[in-house]
Amino acid sequence: MSSPFKGEREGHHTVAIVGGGAAGFFCAIRLKELCRQTEVTIFEKSRKVLAKVAISGGGRCNCTNTFTQITDLSQAYPRGATLIKRLFKQFSPQDTFRWFEEHGVPLVIQEDQCIFPKAQDSRAVIDCFMNEVRKYGIRIETGCRIEDPVELLKEFTDVVVTVGGLQHTSLHLTTPLVECVPSLFTFNIDDTRLHQLMGIVVENAVTSIPGTKLKAEGPLLITHWGMSGPSILKLSSYAARHLAEKDYKSPLAVNWTGETNADKVREHIINIIESNAKTRLIDNVRPFGLNTRLWNYLLQKIGLGGKPLGDIGKKNVNRLVEVLTNDQYTISSRCQYKDEFVTCGGVPLDSIDKHTMESLHTPHLYFAGEVLDIDGITGGFNFQAAWTTADAAARGIIRQVSA
Ligand SMILES: Cc1cc2nc3c(=O)[nH]c(=O)nc-3n(C[C@H](O)[C@H](O)[C@H](O)COP(=O)(O)OP(=O)(O)OC[C@H]3O[C@@H](n4cnc5c(N)ncnc54)[C@H](O)[C@@H]3O)c2cc1C
Repeated sequence: MSSPFKGEREGHHTVAIVGGGAAGFFCAIRLKELCRQTEVTIFEKSRKVLAKVAISGGGRCNCTNTFTQITDLSQAYPRGATLIKRLFKQFSPQDTFRWFEEHGVPLVIQEDQCIFPKAQDSRAVIDCFMNEVRKYGIRIETGCRIEDPVELLKEFTDVVVTVGGLQHTSLHLTTPLVECVPSLFTFNIDDTRLHQLMGIVVENAVTSIPGTKLKAEGPLLITHWGMSGPSILKLSSYAARHLAEKDYKSPLAVNWTGETNADKVREHIINIIESNAKTRLIDNVRPFGLNTRLWNYLLQKIGLGGKPLGDIGKKNVNRLVEVLTNDQYTISSRCQYKDEFVTCGGVPLDSIDKHTMESLHTPHLYFAGEVLDIDGITGGFNFQAAWTTADAAARGIIRQVSA
């Protein structure tokens, strides 16, 4: 029978990585960078490794973010912010930037602070990882599904589980999991007149779930199924658990102006009315630079389409403020496709060592990446969590070996 920690007893330090995705590859490479002698094998259930990296960021791989627009990490990581903050001391977004550039992947920072390979092609990241794997002689076993990672400890000194989101995975783990639900999805809204506005982008919308504190801001895209865009994706992340509990049926409020102070919105509307009162219909003005078709849709919704500005009384001003800042919709379901989808939930963070990612229940078993109960909003934050936690696991393993 194989003995536990067989590799170590025979004088080798051997590590099995379960899952050939972003976290698995990064952990494998970091292990070799930290300790060349370590023998590393990646087990991947499918025939293709790094499949998600390939399709990520629309095929361009948004591999990290400058984080300069993030004042509080919980804005970027609705789950796991405290742990990520701690681990950034070891491997930060700046370290990610440096690491890729030093490994032959020049990066560019977009205006929205998202960071991509200069080549604008996720292939650049995949090629980099494959080069490192070849250079260090890391073994890759594809078509190899691991059902019970703990069993691997009979053959390997350490095992790192990097299987990604556990939502549809039947992995045998001793730790009870935090229930897995989807995050980062768009909303189906049954409103055919809204669907006719597909393609319209409102640059600064505030979306919220009425009756809760769940709120997000950013660009909003009207689609032929409902609503999408960064504001909606962010809200789906903040509200991932809430919406799952409601079976993805929920009211939704949209502030189309980006201005959260209703008095300022009122002032803006009154100014428009006063300066155009004699000549124009309400349809012909564009408060807050709103798209004309969207403005007309909103006016129809409150029955003010075609009204001369001079006839808009105080009551109607109130209705205009309401439709601009608190426009009500009903989410009928979540859109299942086309999204940069991640899993909320997974291995609970109180079941792992906060520095090393080692399981508190099973020595020599480590976790990294999306399998953990950490997930971020769109913008490169999920890959950053994968690099940072993978690095932490590699350091944890090597530190223990050195000790
Ligand atoms: C369409 C799309 C676009 C995205 N774009 C971005 C982006 O631009 N920026 C960003 O930050 N994030 C993005 N994400 C999220 C990001 O891809 C994930 O957060 C990241 O891939 C997580 O890395 P991981 O290694 O933990 O998991 P994964 O990349 O999912 O890798 C897990 C691997 O483990 C394998 N596996 C699973 N079970 C087993 C098993 N039992 N045995 C062996 N192998 C197993 C899987 O086949 C897979 O290859 C995107 C996600 C999607 C779906």
